Amino acid sequence: MPESTRRRELGRGERVLPGVWRLRLPLPWPGVPHCNAWAVAAGDGIVLLDCGLHEPGSLAHLERALAQCNLKLEHVRLLVCTHAHSDHYGQAADVVDASGCELWMHPNWDHARAVLDDRDALLARRFEVARQSGVPVEPLRAWSASARDRGNGIARLIEPDRELVDGVTIDTDLGTWVAHETPGHAPSHVCLHQPEHRVLVSGDHLLGRVSLYFDYGWTPDPVGEFLASLDRVEGLDARLCLAGHARTFTDVGAHIDANRALVAERVERVRAAVAEHGPITAYDVVPLLHGEPLTQLTAGWWLPETLCYLQHLEVLGVVARDGGDPERWALA
Ligand SMILES: [Zn+2]
Ligand SMILES: [Zn+2]
Repeated sequence: MPESTRRRELGRGERVLPGVWRLRLPLPWPGVPHCNAWAVAAGDGIVLLDCGLHEPGSLAHLERALAQCNLKLEHVRLLVCTHAHSDHYGQAADVVDASGCELWMHPNWDHARAVLDDRDALLARRFEVARQSGVPVEPLRAWSASARDRGNGIARLIEPDRELVDGVTIDTDLGTWVAHETPGHAPSHVCLHQPEHRVLVSGDHLLGRVSLYFDYGWTPDPVGEFLASLDRVEGLDARLCLAGHARTFTDVGAHIDANRALVAERVERVRAAVAEHGPITAYDVVPLLHGEPLTQLTAGWWLPETLCYLQHLEVLGVVARDGGDPERWALA
């Protein structure tokens, strides 16, 4: 639908626990209508966990959501980002400008820095990865041009004041939250755990509806890292999850199991595709994995996901790449 006729949601705020509010912020993405930021009471102000994507008018949605909870941007004493994707970090500079707060985020956020430093170089690199993976130059050229026209969703580059690594604590009225590094979805991903209330702010590591996305090209094995992060979070034994998208949920263990099951199913499907059709490009694995070929809408999601499964199987010694152009995969 064209931008002008698409009905856009407004930012909305609601209390989920005493002193904890869900701020539901609209997103311009097909199939992902909104993201969550969380406000937690802390003394005379709030700690803001994530902040939504930046685009024209987006700060008004955050302000509207806060206002529905009788809060204002000036109340933010600290901004903590679960990871550096645009829908969680995009408005960080705006929030810091309005409130004067500090920003805490994990140091492995080069994947976002690349978007901001030299977007053309990043798009050129993505184009090259896609071409090497067997995507035909047409439609790749058209997809790449349309990506260049879209905004990057981040207001401007802002460095964290503090590195949000394992064991960093955040004091709020609900109690102290502890940071746990959970890479996989993104190299910069961190979950925040409040042990006494057994509450987990899970970012995009655990979502109510299982949805797998992996940043490709920044770490050796995002799928393996994601599985290790699931183990890590399972050990926390949280009973309430405040996720980066959609509603809160309570059956945290079942969600962890569902993620493991879906990863195992997809890894096996990729292995079977390589076993049956190899040598095969990642591009040709996509329809065998997802049941339909890559399109402009799915290219930025399914191609890195498929490459990450292949890379995981390569780390396990199950498949190997031939180093050709395009690159093809076969059983090791
Ligand atoms: Zn994300
Ligand atoms: Zn997200």
